[in-house]
Amino acid sequence: MILDDALFQKLLENLSEGVYFVDPQRTILYWNRAAERITGFSEKEIEGKSCADDILVHVDDAGTSLCKGACPLAATMKDGRNRVNRVYLRHKEGYRLPVCVSTAAIRDDTGNVIGGLETFHDDSSLVAALAEAERLSQLALICPLTGIGNRRFAEETIAKRLSESQRNHTACAFVMFDVDHFKKINDSYGHPVGDIVLKMVAQTLLTNLRVYDFVGRWGGEEFLLTMPHLSRQELENTANRLRVLVERSSRKISENRLAVTISGGATLSRADDTPASVIKRVDALLYESKRRGRNRVTIG
Ligand code: GH3
Ligand code: MG
Ligand code: MG
Repeated sequence: MILDDALFQKLLENLSEGVYFVDPQRTILYWNRAAERITGFSEKEIEGKSCADDILVHVDDAGTSLCKGACPLAATMKDGRNRVNRVYLRHKEGYRLPVCVSTAAIRDDTGNVIGGLETFHDDSSLVAALAEAERLSQLALICPLTGIGNRRFAEETIAKRLSESQRNHTACAFVMFDVDHFKKINDSYGHPVGDIVLKMVAQTLLTNLRVYDFVGRWGGEEFLLTMPHLSRQELENTANRLRVLVERSSRKISENRLAVTISGGATLSRADDTPASVIKRVDALLYESKRRGRNRVTIG
């Protein structure tokens, strides 16, 4: 397939990554729409300016300006090596936005560097998540193996969510998942492989929750979830979606692709619940799922 220039232009304009291109003097020749959205500067405001002018003024973690000395784009044009850096640009509105930038040197047919390409995306949610993870691990609330909340964090979250929902006369959903026949994984492949599988399950659960949901490691191969603002039907759908996503997760270990299933007990909180009564109920419902053949969720 041969793409013409106009189509290439359209592709660039529709990328979600910010893209810009500079000549060897670092004058900006191209600035795409995502770059406008992320920085607040329009193409008109940017074009023809040097990236070392007082526009984005990238700084590093220590607040040191990179434009005059340690500009990754300038360094890449000089030595031809691609770079990936986390830096902070100054948004048109003045605030510092963390961005992940990748740089590449662009050469002509004879190998001369004719400019530099920088692509970048907003990294703020990652930074917030990293800061939060750092804070939580300092408070000893994170399970070091799986990277999700530990038992203590789960207990605190249950108590918090339960009292919140009782105060607001709403219901919060609680789910207990347990890996099926997990002992067999350990027995067949060894404990370290069991650990890898546990991590995989934890990541599938974590990455498929909404931001205000919580998943913690309750015990060995048990996971406790809290999910506010769900109807019974939504709870059933969500718990089953997570169950299926775990079933569809698999990890290649030497010649084998390992997968596990989970069983769950799920419930909505009631006005007279205590953390203990919630746990007792999801445990009983989980047991029911095991009894009925595993890889299923029982709602009660
Ligand atoms: P069921 O379907 O009834 O839940 O069967 P199961 O084999 O999953 O349940 P069982 O309670 O008999 O076994 C759980 C196993 O989980 C036993 C324990 O050694 C293992 N386990 C607990 N914590 C860890 C861990 O951190 N890493 C590994 N690799 N295994 C763990
Ligand atoms: Mg189990
Ligand atoms: Mg168990």
